[in-house]
Amino acid sequence: MNLQALPAFDDNYIWMLHDGVSAAVVDPGDAGPVIAALDAQGLELAAILVTHHHPDHVGGVDELRPRLKGPVYGPAREKIPQPFEPLTDGSRIEVLGLRFDVMDVPGHTAGHIAYVTHDDGASPLLFCGDTLFSAGCGRLFEGTAAQMHQSLSRLAALPGSTRVCCTHEYTLSNLKFASAVEPGNAEIADYARHCQAVRAQGRMTLPSTIARELRINPFLRWAEPAVIETAIAQGAPDRSPVHVFAALREWKNRYR
Ligand SMILES: [Zn+2]
Ligand SMILES: [Zn+2]
Repeated sequence: MNLQALPAFDDNYIWMLHDGVSAAVVDPGDAGPVIAALDAQGLELAAILVTHHHPDHVGGVDELRPRLKGPVYGPAREKIPQPFEPLTDGSRIEVLGLRFDVMDVPGHTAGHIAYVTHDDGASPLLFCGDTLFSAGCGRLFEGTAAQMHQSLSRLAALPGSTRVCCTHEYTLSNLKFASAVEPGNAEIADYARHCQAVRAQGRMTLPSTIARELRINPFLRWAEPAVIETAIAQGAPDRSPVHVFAALREWKNRYR
């Protein structure tokens, strides 16, 4: 199975899986890059997977329908272009012979879902939209900090080898914030230097892995003493993981 990321807009990636004959795409905000990739590689479009309703994730769905030989899958609790097969926590789908388990991950939007390939020995693939980013997480547009904390906790519990295929290339700016949260974390500094070189070459910093995110992502590190101290300095009322998470998320909204 081939995994490709098709750049779209300023900083989106439309993830495409294909087996040389058929392809599936995740969150096609723009049909153009998908059609170009299908044509260039002679692929048929077998499925579209949607994580949440934002236009930069669903904007290309209707334009792709004439090419589509299978279903559009999407979050049961959100308004996305009809028709689609509604999915919710615990749903299972098979796409290109891979089994995907669906998780509810509310916070960025109220009905956001994530797709993770069933662990069959290979490194699982996680398509998490705008919930978990490399070294960051999505803004809380519709959900609460408690919901997002719960959603991120569930993603953090996936196998360390899980490949994190999020939608946006925000890694460098997220790492700048991560260094401010944890100035003493050498791995964040090292990884920031690595990602600067990667971006300078025009390459992408994704996918990441759950194991790496557990070491560098302040929004998964609510139990680290240094992270807790920073959160308290930023106004967290106590050391509870939800309050630590909420204070960091608030700070990130203001951080430049
Ligand atoms: Zn979004
Ligand atoms: Zn987005």
